Amino acid sequence: MTSIYQSSKKNLLQEFQTNENGLSKAEANKRMEEKGYNELTEGKKESIGQIFLSQFKDFLVIILIAAATISAVLGDYESSAVIFLVIILNAILGTVQHKKAEKSLDSLKQLSAPNAKVIRDGETLIIPSREVAVGDIVLLEAGDYICADGRILNNASLKINESALTGESLSVEKEDIILEREVSLGDRINMVFSGSFVTYGRGSFLVTATGMNTEVGKIATLLKDTKEHKTPLQTNLDNFGKKLSIVILAICAVIFAVNVIEGSSIMDAFTFAVALAVAAIPEALSSIVTIVLAFSTQKMAKENAIIRKLHAVEGLGSVSIICSDKTGTLTQNKMTVMNVYVNDTLLPFDKYTVQSATENKLLNFSALCNDASNTGGVEVGDPTEVALVNMSTIMAGRLNNSNLETASIRNQYERLAEIPFDSDRKLMSTVHNMDNKLIMVTKGAVDVMLSRMTGIEINGQVNTITAKDKDKIMKANLDCSKKGLRVLAFGYKYIVNTEVSMEDETDFIFLGLIAMMDPPREESKAAVAQCKKSGIRAIMITGDHKITAAAIAEQIGILEDGYIAVEGSEIDGLSDEELKTFVEKVCVYARVSPEHKIRIVRAWQEKGNIVAMTGDGVNDAPALKQADVGIAMGITGSEVAKDAASMVLTDDNFATIVKAVENGRNVYRNIKKSIKFLLSGNTAGILSVLYASLAGLAVPFAPVHLLFINLLTDSLPAIALGLDSHTKEVMAEAPRQKDESILTKQFLFGILTEGFVIGAMTMCAYYIGLKNGGEAVASTMAFATLCLSRLVHGYNSKSEQCILFKKEIINNKILGGAFAIGFILLNAVLLIPGLNHMFETATLSLNLLLTVYGLALSNLFIIQFIKFIKSKLVRTEAVAISYTIESKY
Ligand code: ATP
Repeated sequence: MTSIYQSSKKNLLQEFQTNENGLSKAEANKRMEEKGYNELTEGKKESIGQIFLSQFKDFLVIILIAAATISAVLGDYESSAVIFLVIILNAILGTVQHKKAEKSLDSLKQLSAPNAKVIRDGETLIIPSREVAVGDIVLLEAGDYICADGRILNNASLKINESALTGESLSVEKEDIILEREVSLGDRINMVFSGSFVTYGRGSFLVTATGMNTEVGKIATLLKDTKEHKTPLQTNLDNFGKKLSIVILAICAVIFAVNVIEGSSIMDAFTFAVALAVAAIPEALSSIVTIVLAFSTQKMAKENAIIRKLHAVEGLGSVSIICSDKTGTLTQNKMTVMNVYVNDTLLPFDKYTVQSATENKLLNFSALCNDASNTGGVEVGDPTEVALVNMSTIMAGRLNNSNLETASIRNQYERLAEIPFDSDRKLMSTVHNMDNKLIMVTKGAVDVMLSRMTGIEINGQVNTITAKDKDKIMKANLDCSKKGLRVLAFGYKYIVNTEVSMEDETDFIFLGLIAMMDPPREESKAAVAQCKKSGIRAIMITGDHKITAAAIAEQIGILEDGYIAVEGSEIDGLSDEELKTFVEKVCVYARVSPEHKIRIVRAWQEKGNIVAMTGDGVNDAPALKQADVGIAMGITGSEVAKDAASMVLTDDNFATIVKAVENGRNVYRNIKKSIKFLLSGNTAGILSVLYASLAGLAVPFAPVHLLFINLLTDSLPAIALGLDSHTKEVMAEAPRQKDESILTKQFLFGILTEGFVIGAMTMCAYYIGLKNGGEAVASTMAFATLCLSRLVHGYNSKSEQCILFKKEIINNKILGGAFAIGFILLNAVLLIPGLNHMFETATLSLNLLLTVYGLALSNLFIIQFIKFIKSKLVRTEAVAISYTIESKY
């Protein structure tokens, strides 16, 4: 049987029952339904049952189950049944949270799934890659991921990186030929394979295999690793959690020993010690971070920032440098032609008349050396080129001459060959037949073009270009650039055959310049100003001309007195060490290559900064990976850039990055609140038990009390705090230091203080109970006070400031819900006789019940008062810090 790469294109189109106009939409859908989605089947997901069972994986929970089983065997059915009940409820809660987080991460994955450009019914459509069917015609350009296997139909210098399949890191040059012999995968140069990507050129291919039938689908080991790795914060918390667990286990061992010495049975003392360990060890720390991060990404997606890797949210919170592209991110990417330089004269666009042969040629060339289109107002393609298409339309209207329309010019002079644009070379060339002569038309950056000019055409006459001509051209370029305009130069040369390569892009005849305006986005100025207030440095890194870039940077406030704009080549001569000092004063880098981007990111990182970097092209992928937060453009970005990035902007807007930083800071702050809430509550429990043991009192809680508290006051309020409303306040602070641990001394001191206050209230309740009814009442009072205090403490944990008389204290509905559920269940356990018995609680008189409420509530007042005093003390320090941020930039 002949392989696909040995067949002709015609035969293949027949075999796959398709043609150059692609499949019909109905046929494509039919095929997709028959063969399934074009995707690699992921490893099986955990079922709900597995997730539920995994909740019991915890060593301590297993011991607790064993202890409860033993006590059931020994006849204490009731308390062991309650322990089982609470453990099961806890596991159900954990399963629900796990599923919810998974769902929100899945929907996020769908949002950032790759797309493909296909021809169906003769129309070009952008569809999700998973909907591509066998027989589809897929269009390719630099930066696209190949979504399926297929045979190349059109090839304009396609180069493909197939390293995912073959391990070969150099790109393969593709050719549109029939291969005679059988060859291995890497040599099938007329085919493309799923999982590889286009590094250069343009083309199209016929899809011959999709999903698991592709070459990559056959190699199971290459399946993408879809597991989220732990974020630095999670790792940090895991390590802390482990150390803390050892301390808690040691305390539990002491308490076990003391209880046995004081006369408890070994079984009772053991069950109690294990229950205390379960309640006190904050096993939920890392999973709360996952849940909060997963839910927060939903909010960020609504605000146009799609998080692809969870660690980006954390990174965003401490970003101190944002390196941003100019075109489309800081500017609108809506280009309009403003000036034309032709026949030795710089004209405003409305004075451009196309009267002379040279003027006419410039208009024709701008339509020919161009891939964009505007059909009935639908603009497709690079905005720089769209501006040129629109220029033709305006000229055709102005001079009432439909021959000047782009479509008509393109019909007249067919494109015979091309060398696509790439931002390293900054040039694009096409070949046409004009008046029976083969002509190569090139457009590109003025500086690059000018160094390749040997002639100049003025009013139809071609002469050798002189230094004076070049000076004039440079001056016109400078005048336009100073106004922030993007300038392109046009040239041409006659050639002998259509086989052209980059080496042929020399010895041009200069034709003219076209300058276009790309105004800054309205939001950019405010966003840059916000960065300054937040201690973040905004830096422009662009492929455009230095003067143009500097003019725009000045308009939006990136370039200020004392800072400079440089060209990428100016850092070539600097060592990495020198670059570290040099970057301090640079706010604009122009004409940069992707390698420059990587060096700039590294230099800032080595200075201890967390760097966010934007990118769109295929070559930006390494810099996006190097940055702490790699940001790809959702609209103009290539699929490769999106894949390398940890965040994708759906509106390509710089202001969205700043908003995302604000979200990142808020998320971090909220996670801190959850952690503080959890740890201070647990500390209160441990301190109470420790105190009772050391003071020779009976244990203040039954094991089931501790488990009940763990169930009600652990994860629900903690998650509610993690999702607390965001404030703008966070942007008034300096970015978090790179290595700053969440568990600073101050943070841990706060936990101890708050834990101490709650513990003290709990023991007060215990003593009052002891005095008014004996041990059983004392234990009930202590249990109820600790449980309710922890619920009340959720409100304390909302802020480091005193918010007692502010609306902020009650603005979190989820926290309100968690409090209400806890309050109702606690009262049920205290007041309903059956439950009362099961949960080992004594009946409390109304007075004692009100005392419990009062003591729990007093935590709010005491801790709020402490916060008030503390904020008074640190205010002077904060003023000093904010002064440092302002004066730094
Ligand atoms: P940024 O990096 O901020 O997105 P950019 O879009 O200006 O900036 P590139 O797209 O790399 O960067 O363009 C670099 C230069 O190449 C431009 O300054 C321009 O002179 C030239 N150029 C841009 N687009 C084209 C094109 N379609 N054809 C020919 N030359 C182009």
